[in-house]
Amino acid sequence: MSASHTSGRHSTSDERAAALARMAVVVGTAHALADPERQAPYVHELRGLYVGRPALVLRPGSPQEVAELLVIANNARIGVVPQGGNTGLVGGQIPANDSSEVVLSLSRLNRVRSVDAVGGTMIIEAGATLAGAQAAANAAGRLFPLSLPSEESCQIGGVLATNAGGVGVLAYGNARSLSLGLEVVTADGRIWDGLRTLKKDNTGYDLRDLFIGSEGTLGIITAAALKLYPRPVETALAFVALPDIEAVGAFFRLAEARGHTGLTAFEFMSRFALDLVTRHIPDTRVPIRTPASWYVLIELSSHEAGGLADASMQRLLTEAAQAELITDAVIAASLSQSKALWRLRESVSEAQRGEGGSIKHDVSVPIARIAEFVTKAGDAVQTICPGARPVVFGHFGDGNVHYNVTQPEGMGKAEFIALWTPMTKLVHDVIATLSGSISAEHGIGQMKRNELRRFKSPLEIELMRKIKAAFDPNGILNPGKVL
Ligand code: FAD
Ligand code: ZN
Repeated sequence: MSASHTSGRHSTSDERAAALARMAVVVGTAHALADPERQAPYVHELRGLYVGRPALVLRPGSPQEVAELLVIANNARIGVVPQGGNTGLVGGQIPANDSSEVVLSLSRLNRVRSVDAVGGTMIIEAGATLAGAQAAANAAGRLFPLSLPSEESCQIGGVLATNAGGVGVLAYGNARSLSLGLEVVTADGRIWDGLRTLKKDNTGYDLRDLFIGSEGTLGIITAAALKLYPRPVETALAFVALPDIEAVGAFFRLAEARGHTGLTAFEFMSRFALDLVTRHIPDTRVPIRTPASWYVLIELSSHEAGGLADASMQRLLTEAAQAELITDAVIAASLSQSKALWRLRESVSEAQRGEGGSIKHDVSVPIARIAEFVTKAGDAVQTICPGARPVVFGHFGDGNVHYNVTQPEGMGKAEFIALWTPMTKLVHDVIATLSGSISAEHGIGQMKRNELRRFKSPLEIELMRKIKAAFDPNGILNPGKVL
C-alpha cells in the first residue's frame, strides 16, 4: 500500500517533510512520536494481523489542534489514520507500512465535558475510554449501557466510528442508538459542532449518522453527546443448558415474551466454546452439572426493588423446563458468581488462542435463521478444512454470531491461517443465502474491504464513494479503509 491512496496533487518530499515538521510543532515534540519504539503501541493491532509504519504518531491535546493538523495534512495530501484505543479487529486503525501516513491518536482528548443527570445526557470527548464513560454516568446515578469486553481500552471515538455493539444492544441498541450528537473535525480542518442533545431533530440529512460507523473515513470525531438511562435496581443472571440450537431460539422467544423490556442480555455459546474457556482460562469451571450442547447467559433487569428480577427469572426457567426447552440452569446468587458467569462468556476469544490459529467471522442473520446458519456454515467449513472446529458464540438476541473457527488438532497454525480467504468466502456465501451481514459489529477496515464489494450492489458502492468524495475530496482520511 502506498501514499497513492490519497488523490489529487502530490506534494514533493521537501513539502512533505516540512508539513510533518509543522504537524509536530502543532502538538509539541513530546506528542509527535517518530521513534519506532515509542510508536510500537500504535502500529500493531491486537491479533498481530496488521502492522503499520507511520511517518509520525500525533497526539493532539484539543479539537483545535486536530483541526490544525488536518489543514496541514489536507494541503500536503498526507493520509491521516485516526486511532482510539487500538482494539479494532479489522485493521481500520492501523496505518500503511510505508511511512506515507500519520496516526492521529485521540487518547489525550479524554475529558467528560458535562453530565446532565436530569435530562439523561452526557458530553464526553472522543479519547475517553468506554469504561470511563460508564463510570461518569454511574457517578451521576445513571447508566451508559454500551458494554464490550474491550471497554477498559476502547474509546468513545472508536466505539462511534465502528458503531460498536456488545452485550447491551438487545435492550439499549448499539453505539448509534446511544448517541445524540457529535463534534467532528472535517478533512479540511473545520470543526463541526453537532453536539445537540435533542432526542428529536428532523432537520434534513443526518450528518451524525453518516459519521457514525464510517471508521474514520469521513471525519475525525472529537466529542459526542450520549444518551443515559436509569440504572436498573436489580438484575438476575442465569447460566442455562439447552439440548440443541433450535431450543436456544425457542427459549429466546419465550424470554422475550415474558421478560419484555426487562430482558437485558441473551448471549449464547456452544459446548466446545465453553470447553475451551474452562481448559485455557484459569479459575473457570462449568457451573452446571448436566452436559449440554448449548449454553445461554440470560439477564433480566428490574427498575423496582423487592426481588422482582429473581422471581421473573425463576418463573421463566420453570416454564422453559416444563416445555423441555432447557435441561438445567443456575442463577447467580451473588455479585461474584455473576462476574464468574460473565467471565465464561467474555473469555471465549482469549481461550481460543490456547488452541492455535483461528479464522474469525463476525456475522449476523435474521434471528430465526441462526440455527440454519450454524448447520450450513459448519458443512461449508468442513469442505475446505476437514477437522476444523467451529467455536460458535455471540449475541443471540441480535442475530449476531461470532463464528470463529479453530484449527484442526495437529495442523500447523500457518497452514490453517492460509485458508483464511477461501474459508471466509464460503462462510460469507452462506450469509448471503440467508440475507445476513458480513460485519455485525466490527466494521470493514482493511480486512473486509474486498468482501464488501461482493455484498453491496454497484449502486450502493457508487453512492458510498460519492459521499466519501464529498466529505474528503483529497482522500486523506483513513486511506484504503472501507472502500
Ligand atoms: P480503534 O481500534 O482505535 O479504531 C477503530 C476504527 O475507528 C478505526 O477505523 C479508526 O480509524 C476509527 N476511529 C477511532 N477513533 C476515531 C475517532 N475519534 N474519529 C474517527 N474515527 C476513529 N466490538 C463490538 O462492537 N462488540 C464487541 O463485543 C467487541 N468485543 C471486543 C472484544 C475484544 C477483546 C476486543 C479486542 C475487541 C472487541 N470489539 C468489539 C472491537 C473493538 O473493541 C470495537 O470496535 C471498538 O469500538 C473500537 O474502539 P477503539 O477506540 O479501540 O478504536
Ligand atoms: Zn460481540
